Amino acid sequence: MIEIENVRKSFGTLEVLKGINLSIEKGEVLCLIGGSGSGKSTLLQCINGLQSIQGGNIIVDGTNVHARDTNLNTLRQKLGIVFQQYNAFPHLTALENVALAPRVVKKQSRRDALDLAREHLDYVGLGSKADMKPSGLSGGQQQRLAIARALAMKPAYMLFDEVTSALDPELVGEVLDTLRKLKESGMTMIVVTHDVAFARESGDRVAFFDQGVICELGPARQVINDPKEERTRQFLQRVL
Ligand code: ATP
Ligand code: MG
Repeated sequence: MIEIENVRKSFGTLEVLKGINLSIEKGEVLCLIGGSGSGKSTLLQCINGLQSIQGGNIIVDGTNVHARDTNLNTLRQKLGIVFQQYNAFPHLTALENVALAPRVVKKQSRRDALDLAREHLDYVGLGSKADMKPSGLSGGQQQRLAIARALAMKPAYMLFDEVTSALDPELVGEVLDTLRKLKESGMTMIVVTHDVAFARESGDRVAFFDQGVICELGPARQVINDPKEERTRQFLQRVL
């Protein structure tokens, strides 16, 4: 379980998160929507300790992310994160990319890491691309490779930040299919997305961010189809 309690985050004098409260249960898919600059990406970075916070607590399975004695390397093995931009190592094949962190961080044998990498490539539908370099993959395939790399660390949680935003429209579906498959497997996920239809269909709950606060939080269909807050309504009118 991830518990976010009254989290405050500033960059200099700019207050970006103004007291965020959220909890994510095991097996839940929580979608974060909201305007540009509202703090969604910053929150994901705070959850895996990439950013410090100025107030509140983030607790992942009982571990306080920002406590002095927390081992962030251990914690991050629990938290797979995939960003908008692709991040594969260009000189390695798809298979080697997926096997790398398990070998280096988890000290798996080459053989075990490659066997598992192959399973994860199959899972995201890239079994036939194992020996390709990332530059030989389409955007959608590179994004699925990024998901396979994250899954190879056997995370308890997956955090996704606008993973389809940089893709040509015809490539969005294959990446969303992978997210749906993960949801069906019971993965706990926090999904930052501009894709309101995806949030409605695949989210259990949706949180609408506005200028550093959660303006509305509720069951996905209710928030998207029948928002209670005027600001949510206005945002949805602009994007739908
Ligand atoms: P988008 O939908 O455009 O991705 P977002 O909701 O993810 O927006 P954030 O990236 O979290 O928004 O940014 C929130 C605010 O924090 C913005 O005003 C942004 O300029 C600022 N910000 C983010 N990262 C930094 C940083 N490293 N240094 C200074 N300011 C930052
Ligand atoms: Mg963002």
